[in-house]
Amino acid sequence: MAFDCAAQLRAVSLRVTRPRVAVLAAVRAHPHVDTDTVIGLVRADHPAVSHQAVYDVLRALTSAGLVRRIEPAGTTARYESRVGDNHHHVVCRSCGAIADVDCAAGHAPCLTASDGHGFVADEAEVVYWGRCPDCMHSPTSEGSR
Ligand SMILES: [Zn+2]
Ligand SMILES: [Zn+2]
Repeated sequence: MAFDCAAQLRAVSLRVTRPRVAVLAAVRAHPHVDTDTVIGLVRADHPAVSHQAVYDVLRALTSAGLVRRIEPAGTTARYESRVGDNHHHVVCRSCGAIADVDCAAGHAPCLTASDGHGFVADEAEVVYWGRCPDCMHSPTSEGSR
């Protein structure tokens, strides 16, 4: 995976550094991971990498398009390596679990707004809210929010 990550970095003309490879590998292995978790994962293997370095790398990877940042209302920012396919997310109101949802009607049709007001849209963000299977089946979480 480290080799793959290095190739991905080169493909977008980012210099291959150990923190960049480590952060990208962490996001690839843990879809919808939050910043604190990325920091924990990276520092477990590379204790010398600072929190700030991880923040900086996440920002660089996001602007290079290798990583997508999502931030459903009321949650912290999450990162994922599945980019460019206009997929959506379903979020559990109870525990915050996030899962991928493919576009509801085929290849990115959500980008065809019924009236785009002259804007050229390149991204449509749809968030489905509900309860995940774990929370539906565990009475202890009932009414926790
Ligand atoms: Zn849940
Ligand atoms: Zn996703």
